[in-house]
Parts: sequence; C-alpha cells; structure tokens
Amino acid sequence: MSDCIFCSIVNGDIPSNKVYEDDEILAFRDIAPEAPVHIVIVPKLHVANILDLDESSDLGQKMLKVASKIAKDEGIAESGFRIVNNCNADGGQTVFHLHFHLLGGRNLKWPPG
Ligand code: 5GP
Ligand code: ZN
Repeated sequence: MSDCIFCSIVNGDIPSNKVYEDDEILAFRDIAPEAPVHIVIVPKLHVANILDLDESSDLGQKMLKVASKIAKDEGIAESGFRIVNNCNADGGQTVFHLHFHLLGGRNLKWPPG
C-alpha cells in the first residue's frame, strides 16, 4: 500500500531502527516509545488489522513467537512484558497495517486507560 507508513518502513522508504527481520516479519523500535522497550512487530505484507488476518495463515502465531524471541533478546523476558494489538477506533489503532506492540522495561499498569 503506497500510503501506508509501515509498508514504507518495510520497503525502506522510511528509515527505522530494526531489531528483527525475516522473510515475512519486520520488527523495529517505536518512534514514540511508551516504555524503555517498545517494539513494533509487523508482517511485511500489508494486512490492515487483525480482522483481516487470513484464518488459514499462521502469520499471527509467527508474530507472537517473534515477540517472545525479542523479549528474551531485549532482556525483559524474566521481569515481564506486554504484547498489545490495537484494533480500529476504540482499540486505539492509528496505523492501519497489522502490528503487535511489545512493551517492557518498567512496571506496566493494568488495566490501560
Ligand atoms: P497504533 O496506535 O496503531 O496501535 O500504533 C502505531 C504505532 O506506530 C505508534 O506507537 C506510533 O508511535 C508508531 N509509529 C507511527 N509512525 C511511526 C514511524 O514512522 N516510525 C516508527 N518507528 N514508529 C511509528
Ligand atoms: Zn501497510
């Protein structure tokens, strides 16, 4: 999608601080971090949000596995972390390219606002 920020990050038109990449998935540091570790995990192919994830696809599972791997690599696995998916307006989604947030490095309050 030509007007999608995360597609532009995937294709390199917008620079990002990458922490993980494979054939299907890219992860990079959030530009406006809400925690000491705040990483965005996206599929390389454009999917608007979790509602559009093909039910026959294992992409969501792969993204979650990547999130766990990064949590270990970032040293927040033992202290704890949160994986978030914001979907549509009430969920707070602002970028309409599927992504999981990985947040950690501080005590995260629950429930969020
Ligand atoms: P959402 O609100 O859709 O769940 O999350 C979108 C996230 O993308 C936000 O946390 C926002 O800070 C991040 N973001 C938006 N534009 C950019 C960008 O150009 N680069 C990076 N690294 N993060 C971005
Ligand atoms: Zn996109």
